[in-house]
Amino acid sequence: MKKYWLPVMMLAIFEAVAVTLWLTLDNLFYLFNFSYIGCSVSLGIFLFIRKHPHARRVAQLLVGLYMLVYLGLICQENMQIEGFWYYLFTGVFEAATIHYAVAKIFGPLIFGRGWCGYACWTAMVLDFLPYQTPRRPRKPIGWIRYVTFAASLVFVAALFLAHVGNLERIMFWAFLTGNLAYYGVGIALAFAFQDNRAFCKYICPITVFLKPMSYFSLLRVTCDTEKCVSCGRCRQVCPMDVDMTDNSRKRKNGTECILCFACVKNCPKGAL
Ligand code: SF4
Ligand code: SF4
Ligand code: SF4
Repeated sequence: MKKYWLPVMMLAIFEAVAVTLWLTLDNLFYLFNFSYIGCSVSLGIFLFIRKHPHARRVAQLLVGLYMLVYLGLICQENMQIEGFWYYLFTGVFEAATIHYAVAKIFGPLIFGRGWCGYACWTAMVLDFLPYQTPRRPRKPIGWIRYVTFAASLVFVAALFLAHVGNLERIMFWAFLTGNLAYYGVGIALAFAFQDNRAFCKYICPITVFLKPMSYFSLLRVTCDTEKCVSCGRCRQVCPMDVDMTDNSRKRKNGTECILCFACVKNCPKGAL
């Protein structure tokens, strides 16, 4: 049973969040929401341990579709970064603010960029494209993420400063157009750079939160240097160009790891 500590720990963390938010905000929805996400993520990790070939994709589809279709389209909650700014400006601690606090700001201190590997509805689609591992070297254009981050903030701030009415409706349309833009740009970049995760590496504004927080992540892939024979197979299969054979926090692209465990699966010596 020892090998199942990780899915059990993930489920416990999400249940703790679910119960805390349910009781403090007196809203049963949070119990359902975070229990569902915790069960889905834990199921993905459990299946991975059981060597199921599509373990991560199962979790990604369960959480991604729930957030995109149920929360986004049916409940009309803008869970993108614009929704986060919107709730932050209105001073309401719910929906997108809670989602960001748990999945993208404080959660990464524990589970790094697990969100990007197991839950994001943008990557859920991008991961179906044919370039699972990048076929071209990384480009030095990661600065674009700061531009998109600033643009999202300026957009929402401008709506408030201009006292635009019917903001809830506008945020729903921003969610629809924002997602279409993300998918369009993400798919175009994946084919242009022959890299499914090009959008994640260069454009995604959420990485401005994710990268610094995941630097301190409790959960990370480490290398047993005694077992490693420096074959380089792990780096070849990594979708995010991480040098996982370096155990230091400053390893190359260390804050990009999405915990997909492709490197672990492909290491012939079981060194990761
Ligand atoms: S980097 Fe952005 S688009 Fe990519 S998986 Fe993470 S949150 Fe999703
Ligand atoms: S292959 Fe390994 S280092 Fe690369 S993103 Fe996946 S888990 Fe992280
Ligand atoms: S695949 Fe395993 S043995 Fe090869 S370099 Fe990576 S960690 Fe070392």
